[in-house]
Amino acid sequence: MRVDHAVASGTFSLDGETHQVDNNLWVLGDDTECVVIDAPHDVEAILALVGGRKVKAILCTHAHDDHVRAATELRQRVVAPILLHPDDRPLWELVHPDELWDVDLSDGQVIEVAGTALTVLHTPGHAPGAVCFWVPELGCVFTGDTLFQGGPGATGRSFSDRATLEASIRSRLWELPDETVVHTGHGSDTTIGAERALLA
Ligand SMILES: [Zn+2]
Repeated sequence: MRVDHAVASGTFSLDGETHQVDNNLWVLGDDTECVVIDAPHDVEAILALVGGRKVKAILCTHAHDDHVRAATELRQRVVAPILLHPDDRPLWELVHPDELWDVDLSDGQVIEVAGTALTVLHTPGHAPGAVCFWVPELGCVFTGDTLFQGGPGATGRSFSDRATLEASIRSRLWELPDETVVHTGHGSDTTIGAERALLA
């Protein structure tokens, strides 16, 4: 079981503004099968991480365009379902008005890949349907834009709410063990313990 990582560059657009962004690409699996967490910018870069393995699912932490723009093309290329929390439908429709994701994510849902369980934590705030994927067996959590090294994600744009985000982090992420490694949507890894100390 391993986590493969790369970085892809592109743009993030919302509320009529466009920014350059670097997104982390994450693929979790063994030598045979894997799941892709978010599909930013560059399908070829994601396929390079997949390396010919069977993709069981494309898991979306939320539906901002820098996280799901490439999801539908990736779905065609690897023939795997896209999973998204339905509360992010308004954001998804801004990016993909003509096609939907395949399977709804829900809080507490367990997704299995290569014999390892990922637990879905619904953590609204950065986006209404934002989720984190906790992998207790590996001692890590994929937080998307909910929690970064240095603090919570941005809440200055439409569909975001700071108080909701902080409540999600306190009630769901601070419950995880201190040493849990946080794999973020942008920038460096951190740990639950380090970030809890900062926001306490
Ligand atoms: Zn975002």
